[in-house]
Amino acid sequence: MDYKASNHLQDLQYFGEYGGVNPSISDSSTYTFLSAKTMFDTFEGNTEGCYLYSRHSSPSNLYLGEALAALEGTETANVYASGMGAITSVIMQLCSAGDHIVSSRTIYGGTYAFMKNFLVKFNIATSFVDTTKIEAIEKVITHNTKMIYCESISNPLLEVADIRALAKLAKKYGIPLVVDNTFSPLTIAPALLGADIVIHSLTKFINGSSDCVAGAVCGSKPFCLSLKDVNSGSGMLLGSTLDSLRAASILKNMRTLHIRMKMHSANALYLAQNFENQGLRVVYPGLETHPGHAVMKRQMNPEFGFGGLMTMDVGTLKKANALMEMMQAKKLGYLAVSLGFYKTLFSAPSTSTSSEIPLDEQQQMGLSNGLIRFSVGLDNDIHRTYETMKTSMEQLGILKNKKVAP
Ligand SMILES: *Cc1c(COP(=O)(O)O)cnc(C)c1O
Repeated sequence: MDYKASNHLQDLQYFGEYGGVNPSISDSSTYTFLSAKTMFDTFEGNTEGCYLYSRHSSPSNLYLGEALAALEGTETANVYASGMGAITSVIMQLCSAGDHIVSSRTIYGGTYAFMKNFLVKFNIATSFVDTTKIEAIEKVITHNTKMIYCESISNPLLEVADIRALAKLAKKYGIPLVVDNTFSPLTIAPALLGADIVIHSLTKFINGSSDCVAGAVCGSKPFCLSLKDVNSGSGMLLGSTLDSLRAASILKNMRTLHIRMKMHSANALYLAQNFENQGLRVVYPGLETHPGHAVMKRQMNPEFGFGGLMTMDVGTLKKANALMEMMQAKKLGYLAVSLGFYKTLFSAPSTSTSSEIPLDEQQQMGLSNGLIRFSVGLDNDIHRTYETMKTSMEQLGILKNKKVAP
């Protein structure tokens, strides 16, 4: 694939009002019109480049949207106040009462809870299936199915979606494929592999500073415009609008995304390979033992590696908790949810980010109690990190101390 998202991102140029190297921030919720006729036309959606009211759009949000469209290779993109704001807008736009969704069963806990517990209020049903098995999806598609939903690399089990195969299936039935690409910006470009709509939680890698919550929907112009429609757009009417100041700050952080992704990936690969060699059960798409390794290699941009997320199963929740507390005490990272920070973040998904998923379902999908999810940070000396982590594991009896006592 010759598409270079990193180049497209760097070619974008915006100047500030006084020739500043950063675009000016639109510090207004509402905009004046020179004529009443233009205001009417703007309401009708007939005047490009005219701003009306900032829940609809604002210059700062449009700049960030353009950068996200360049990242994903889509026509355009809308930004939202959170990843969940983006996800729920897409779902509510595509589905009506009586409709049906086919979703991967290993998805972000919030998305899972929304589909399973919330959408039923609107009589929208979801079938949760193993989306790595195309037959399993085809089996549950009905004439009411309005979307196939998955994550390119799933949370927290790091399953890799075969986006080309999923897109082919979606095309066959004439339904959109919606992919949450939060875990793999730059590494995977779902739209170029055939996905119709790509969603991001900007809160994670794209912003990368753990200082805000935001989201994005990347797709075709007609779809993104429909989300903004003043009469029927879920984005416009549900109102999860991103603030202009925050959009400007995310755009600035995005400029280092390519450097950060390379470092997150290199550090995660180093830890994954070394801990696997120590005999630990490590899940990382960059390991040959990962079931999705071949698919990942077929669809990734190798420049950016296999991503910053890995999991390790240390046996029990007690051991997992002890290890995370010890790692935090040794300044290796923080016991915290979320991902994409410069510090390593670790949590036990079964009791945190995936606690929305009932225990028996967690077991079915292979989400065990002793599983720790790591969002590997930007450590400059990853070997030192590895040695300190290894010593901690030896102290806790997770790894045997192989050194012979004197
Ligand atoms: C965090 C996350 C979300 C939700 O995003 P928010 O910005 O927290 O609303 C959705 N999908 C994935 C994969 C995530 O990691």
